[in-house]
Amino acid sequence: RNLKMYFPIFSGLLRRHSGDVKAVDNVSFDIFEGETLGLVGESGCGKSTVGRALLRLYTPTAGNVVIDGDDVATLSAEALRQKRPTMQMVFQDPQASLNPRMTVAAIIGEPLDEHSGLPTAEKLERVYTLMDQVGLNRRFANRYPHEFSGGQRQRIGIARALALNPKFIVCDEPIAALDVSIQAQVVNLLEDLQDRLGLTYLFISHDLSMVRHIADRVAVMYLGQIAEISPRDDLYADPLHPYAEALLSAVPEPDPNREGRRTRIILKGDVPSPANPPKGCNFCTRCPKVMPICHDLEPVLTEARPGRFVACHLVTPPQTTRAG
Ligand code: SF4
Ligand code: MG
Repeated sequence: RNLKMYFPIFSGLLRRHSGDVKAVDNVSFDIFEGETLGLVGESGCGKSTVGRALLRLYTPTAGNVVIDGDDVATLSAEALRQKRPTMQMVFQDPQASLNPRMTVAAIIGEPLDEHSGLPTAEKLERVYTLMDQVGLNRRFANRYPHEFSGGQRQRIGIARALALNPKFIVCDEPIAALDVSIQAQVVNLLEDLQDRLGLTYLFISHDLSMVRHIADRVAVMYLGQIAEISPRDDLYADPLHPYAEALLSAVPEPDPNREGRRTRIILKGDVPSPANPPKGCNFCTRCPKVMPICHDLEPVLTEARPGRFVACHLVTPPQTTRAG
């Protein structure tokens, strides 16, 4: 709720605080148990920062992150340590997130050392079970990360994330670094694990076709804010926010013969700096449907249709926004 993640900018000889990069600027959304919420947007829009702030890998500048009744944003260090096992992350680059000097068994078992207090034999048994779950051969337990392919390394990263039986996993571009030929395998594994283990995912990706495949609902971010959150099918069939419309116009239609295909919308200009976002609607400098009011008044994310939340004066005119 009202999540903000600002990074201070220091400048000049005296390194004075001269402003903030507003990486995440007042973002509110829900993730329901057992669902996959897709989080999409161009690189630099704040998606990964949201994911990290949810897991308190960053301490938010402001706002609340309530997971199962605990406000992760404000938990004490010790309470956070106890909460940690329930919320985990799968990283984009399995190569960079795995210690090259540790064996696979040690990598997957590391969270167990810190949190479970299991005796060695049981720990190894747990590691084997995790390897089975992600489709890694147990015989490779004593090998090192460089002996595996990119897809297998991502399986190691997923096994490690599962070690402590989490309920919520942030998947931050989990397939972006993988060959296209194995991306689907990893996504299928994530879906399969979700069904078997009852996991809840935030799936961060710039791959809109993959998000269409895996997500139940999708949030579209632009310049640190959420433009629209809608059920997947509604969003892809009929995006309501002009930015969502432009973003999705670039996605190839699964059935190219279908009537009413969207034409590609090319946005003019560049994304403004998050250190100096425009006044009013943050999309006003590039929006094809911009109106005078957009330069003055910031639109509020509002439920425009049942289950569909949009921040745009065109969709929810300001008088409705105020009354509602
Ligand atoms: Fe475009 Fe105005 Fe809607 Fe912003 S509020 S998306 S500028 S129409
Ligand atoms: Mg699913």
